[in-house]
Order: sequence, then structure tokens, then C-alpha cells
Amino acid sequence: MKRSLFAVLAAAAVISCTACGKDVVSRIDEPTVSTEAVTTTAAENTAVTTTAAVTTVTTAAEKPTEAVTTTEAQQEEAPAAVPAGGGESAAQQQAPQQSQQSQQPAQSGPVHSHDAVPTPDNYNYGPAPAQYNIEGLTYIQGVLIANKSYSLPSNFNPGMDSTCLNQFYKLQNDASAQGLYIYDSSDFRSYDYQSQIYNNYVARDGQAAADTYSARPGYSEHQTGLAIDVNQIDDSFIGTPEANWLEAHCHEYGFILRYPRGKQDITGYKYESWHIRYVGTDMSYAIHSSGLTLEEYFGIDSYYH
Ligand SMILES: [Zn+2]
Repeated sequence: MKRSLFAVLAAAAVISCTACGKDVVSRIDEPTVSTEAVTTTAAENTAVTTTAAVTTVTTAAEKPTEAVTTTEAQQEEAPAAVPAGGGESAAQQQAPQQSQQSQQPAQSGPVHSHDAVPTPDNYNYGPAPAQYNIEGLTYIQGVLIANKSYSLPSNFNPGMDSTCLNQFYKLQNDASAQGLYIYDSSDFRSYDYQSQIYNNYVARDGQAAADTYSARPGYSEHQTGLAIDVNQIDDSFIGTPEANWLEAHCHEYGFILRYPRGKQDITGYKYESWHIRYVGTDMSYAIHSSGLTLEEYFGIDSYYH
């Protein structure tokens, strides 16, 4: 597969949300360099500067008043204790508003602590999620977003992400040890290939129906190289021992079940028991524990605008 700049950018993004993870230790050096490259690119490319400027999607307005008050009190007590770009978990917890600085996506990324994994009861969107855009790609907390609201450039052609694949092989092996057979049926799809698939579905079922189960070209998560469809890609997979195991354990390998049952209005797609998305283990544990979809977790929508 071609290792274009985009591939490097994508890899850097993935690594940045798993930098402290157990599974990508051997690649830690690579994203460090790549991150610098990204920063340089964003700074030097004036065409990108407008969109590369960090847009922080903060839900501060939703935060309880008392939490803000506490934060202010803590800041007054020890204003010097909050580093501008520190990114330390303690600093993030004390000062969610501090994450407006432009360095955050490149330097600190997501919360690297399993202690901070939110639950449905205490979930509050954590330290302000940093959303940023690089060369037409949208990242939130280091996670490349591809859904009906966030598209990918037609020339974004990274191939399958190697970390994602290696994690899938681990998943596959562990499932096999349980007597379960999980296999990769479909992973990376180029923009052009997705066009063929989608157009065939539209011709067969009409656009409205096709849009419920197939992405338009440029909107497929498979174009990221971070999504895999396993086994039988239809509802016959639902309820099989493999599907049940996948749903219960895929987060242990950095994946999330991307389109859960009953969330079509949120994700934009009907329940897909077979589609998993690699987000890194920190993020997969956090999202799995929250019980939320990716869209809910990041506070974004998914519909064709
Ligand atoms: Zn899929």
C-alpha cells in the first residue's frame, strides 16, 4: 500500500490516541516525528491554516456550574500549577477550559488514563475534546472521523492501517482460542471502489434505502483504513457466538462496534453487528465503558448536509 503523506498523518493520529497504550510500543518513535511534521505542515501551509486552526468543541456550557466554580477556585489557589500546554491529566481535569490552546492536539491528544474512563453516570465529555482539521481530514481527540457529516477527500487513499490489522490479528487469535472463527471480510476501500459499491446499491434499492446501509463515496469509514467488516456481512451474523464475543471483547483490542443496535438516528446507519472500527485501546475502553456511540461520545452528528 502506498505510504503517502496522508497515511503518515493518519498513522500519527492513531498513535496519538494510543501513545501510552500497550499495543503500539514499537511505533512510538514514528508518531513523534510525524506529529512534528503535521505541525510544520499546518503552520507553513497557509491554505490549510484556516482550517487547521484548532476548533475546540467544548461543551463547557453543559458542565455543571459547581464544577466550573471548583475549577476557578482551584486555579486561584494555584494558578502557576496549570501549564499552558502541559496536557497532564491532573491539569486537564482541573481546567477543561485551558484546552483552548493550539498545541493541544499535537502535544497532548486524548486523555491517556484508564482512570478517567467515563461511565454513563458521570460522563461529561471530559476535558474539552479538541477538534481539528488537517488537509480535509477531521480529527477529534486524535480520532479520524468519517461519517455522514464528516467526509474524506477523494484522494485520501491510505490503505489498511498496519496497527489496526495487527490488533485484529490478536483479536482473531484470542477468539480462535475460544473456538470462534472471526475473519476479515472487508477492510480498506478506496474512494473509487466505494463509489462503485454505493452506486450499485442505489441502482438496486434506490438512494434512500442505500443510504441506510452504504456510505456515499468520501463518507465511508472503510476509506480510513481503520474499519473492518468481519464474517458474514449481513444480519445473519447477529447473535452468533462470534458476534457476541466480538461485541463483548473487541474494545480490548482497540476496536469499537461502530454501529450498535437502536442508534441509527445517531450514527446514520442501521445496526451492523459486523463492522468494527479501530480507535486505539484508550479510546475503545472509554467509549465501550460509556455505552455511547462514537457520535455521542464526541458530541457530533452524522447526516448528509
Ligand atoms: Zn463496514
